[in-house]
Amino acid sequence: MKRWVATIDLVTLEVESDPTFKFKCVENCGLCCERLEIPLRGEDIERIEELGYNAWEFVDYEKLFYRGDKFLGYAIKKNPVTDACVFLDPETKKCKIYNHRPLACRLYPFIFVKHGDKMEIYVKEDSFCPGINHPEGEPITREFILREYGDVIEEYRQKVIHESPKHRVKVSV
Ligand code: SF4
Repeated sequence: MKRWVATIDLVTLEVESDPTFKFKCVENCGLCCERLEIPLRGEDIERIEELGYNAWEFVDYEKLFYRGDKFLGYAIKKNPVTDACVFLDPETKKCKIYNHRPLACRLYPFIFVKHGDKMEIYVKEDSFCPGINHPEGEPITREFILREYGDVIEEYRQKVIHESPKHRVKVSV
């Protein structure tokens, strides 16, 4: 189940959001690292390889993700003993490559869907995630989105601006 929580305008960066929703990722929880299958994009694999890992150590070439007919990527490997992500330290529950983790891990539990000039943000309402509507959670405001995902938003913003002559004029004024 996914539920809409916010929409950001990729040109003006204005945000409309559901004020009743709050989120806080709980430190050292790691439940999503245990429960989910994570897709890897080519860029994710390259970034992790730059840390000194070989792709065969962390790519599960037997698990493939598709959207319709489009191949999206392979899954990250699971630790055969714990069944969690190979990069989750089983004792500390910390991610060994946190600053270089795949985009899907950074986005979770959110799903970004681009519609024209807008990015819609949904939350995947997994019952195991204690961060969803956490009492100390933060609403999904403009500040939250730009702090956590500013680089992702900027990448799409540049595409929207460069693809549309209408926005090129707006930006250059
Ligand atoms: S996103 Fe949710 S399940 Fe994953 S570590 Fe944070 S609180 Fe836990």
